[in-house]
Amino acid sequence: MNIYFDNAATTPLDHEVIELMYETSKNIFGNPSSIHSFGRKSRAEIEKSRKTIAKYLNASPLDIVFTSCGTESNNMILNCSIKRYDIQHLIISEFEHKCVLDTAKVIAEKFAIQLHTISVNEKGNVNLAELEEVLSKLEGNKLVSIMHANNEIGTMIDLKQVGDICKKYDAKFHSDTVQTMAHFPIDVKAINVNYLSGSAHKFHGPKGVGFVYMRGDSNLDAFINGGGQERSYRSGTENLISIVAIGKAFELANINMESRKDHIIEIKNYLEKRLIEEIEGISFNGDPENSLFTVLSCSFPPRYTSDMFLFNLDLSGIACSGGSACSSGAQKASHVLKAINHQEDRQTIRFSFSHFNTKKEADYLIEVLKKM
Ligand code: PLP
Repeated sequence: MNIYFDNAATTPLDHEVIELMYETSKNIFGNPSSIHSFGRKSRAEIEKSRKTIAKYLNASPLDIVFTSCGTESNNMILNCSIKRYDIQHLIISEFEHKCVLDTAKVIAEKFAIQLHTISVNEKGNVNLAELEEVLSKLEGNKLVSIMHANNEIGTMIDLKQVGDICKKYDAKFHSDTVQTMAHFPIDVKAINVNYLSGSAHKFHGPKGVGFVYMRGDSNLDAFINGGGQERSYRSGTENLISIVAIGKAFELANINMESRKDHIIEIKNYLEKRLIEEIEGISFNGDPENSLFTVLSCSFPPRYTSDMFLFNLDLSGIACSGGSACSSGAQKASHVLKAINHQEDRQTIRFSFSHFNTKKEADYLIEVLKKM
């Protein structure tokens, strides 16, 4: 049995998306910048996709810029807002995705701005009192970048609440919504947010395409200069097939949001219950009251774990993720697990789900774990 429990890493393509990509590849190939009919056909498809995404976010199509991935979206937002708005303080949380964390460090050095890092508690909740305190003391222009949901342990912030805090202290607000886009309803008119980021492969679209939402009053400097595509924010001939696909995947995910969510929650709860029954001493990372429904981050007691844990699961046909950054062969706890003070002799395994998973798969996983 082959089981895919690693949907926070990436998701399989929706069948309708595959069909559409195939049909589009066969029938539409013009350069979207060409003014002849072939080009106009491609342009129309791109604008249709932009409109779809804007519609579900309650945004204007002018607010959506296509990129190559979530990493690029976050890089674009951070890099291209600093000079434009003369930002002097960049405020992030300590468990941002590396593409925000590392970019923030580079930017702070490059533009000689101050970087402030807000702590998280042992459940991964961002310390909002600390955020308020920091913001209240800072002079000059400020940009806050705090992720909507953490990809490793699933803990979420309340976008509205953080947006209101940013507004109170006149700070611009970016949230990395890569794990929540098309899984949770987001209405940009109901929250005070300047920038959001999305990535198709997290909601059953292809890898290699994402987008930035930027509010009408929060235009960025150009990220890639050249032919002026994407209203000059990101030049380069557009990735037509993938842009068509992200629109379709976004639409399907939004139309089916509730039913997918119900299905996934049922599997997650079932697996959690069975793990508690079968694995003595197991615990769960994150905040159960305030978490991605797609992620179950498990902390296994030392006696169950070994360096071969993930490898053995893989040998049994189960794909999931560990909670460590494995560079130069040495297993060390990720910055997220360090931030929540995860016990070092316990091993974190992240199971993450999609609507394609079943309870039977959860049962199989339990059997494999019991044998291990
Ligand atoms: N931000 C978060 C929270 C993520 O989980 C990921 C991917 O894992 C990214 C950003 C990067 O997205 P992409 O893989 O599209 O570059």
